[in-house]
Amino acid sequence: MEALVGKKCVVIVGGGVAGSLLAKNLQNFADVHLIDAKEYFEIAWAGMRCIVEPSFAERSVIKHSEYAPNATIICSAAVGVTENEVTTEDGHRTAYDYLVIATGHNDTTPATKQEKLSNYQSEQEKIKAANSILIVGGGPSGVELAGEITTDFPGKKVTLVHRGSRLLEFIGEKAGKKALDWLTAKNVEVILGQSVDLNSCTDGSWLLSNIRGRVCRS
Ligand SMILES: Cc1cc2nc3c(=O)[nH]c(=O)nc-3n(C[C@H](O)[C@H](O)[C@H](O)COP(=O)(O)OP(=O)(O)OC[C@H]3O[C@@H](n4cnc5c(N)ncnc54)[C@H](O)[C@@H]3O)c2cc1C
Repeated sequence: MEALVGKKCVVIVGGGVAGSLLAKNLQNFADVHLIDAKEYFEIAWAGMRCIVEPSFAERSVIKHSEYAPNATIICSAAVGVTENEVTTEDGHRTAYDYLVIATGHNDTTPATKQEKLSNYQSEQEKIKAANSILIVGGGPSGVELAGEITTDFPGKKVTLVHRGSRLLEFIGEKAGKKALDWLTAKNVEVILGQSVDLNSCTDGSWLLSNIRGRVCRS
């Protein structure tokens, strides 16, 4: 931290977990410029709850200017980096002493907090309007979403299809079994060993491509 006294210019590209945390912690010690394609930081692992409870997103989608008021926020994608400056899509050029690239995973996400909140709202409306919901994939996102929907909308028919022989395959069997037991106890239909042919999906119908699947019911 001492090397930064004298306000060296630190340019951080990417306002995800890494970039945002760094900007927050460095903002009083350096001349921090945070470059992000969007104006907010979002807690990615809160996303499934935000879908069923959009008001929750108010707390998990946080404008960069709120947590890093002493940093300069440049809301535009970085498109070029040289040895001493970064260029953004809007034509901005920012010189740096130190450059941090924290662009994480590739994703398309709305540029403004308002748009992001509206997206969650519209996802929730789709869930409210549906009688039955098919979730494809029994990894953490699919399992979490099934759990969130069945908790907030217990009357909906939720089906979770997973091509593997058990849920949450990347962690221990015990955890996968616990997730399966919990979901089936909440009347989620879990179909293992089958994959959905996404090309076959039309509104309201889908085809399973492997007929040897196992249906788990409570
Ligand atoms: C649904 C979901 C659930 C998760 N659950 C967990 C969990 O429970 N526990 C856990 O530890 N991890 C979890 N993760 C993973 C965790 O979110 C990531 O490991 C973490 O976000 C990585 O942080 P990062 O800062 O490296 O990148 P990211 O969070 O991906 O941030 C990258 C940032 O860079 C910006 N960016 C990209 N390209 C450019 C560009 N050219 N110019 C400017 N900005 C750019 C993006 O806008 C974004 O703000 C989850 C992820 C998801 C999607």
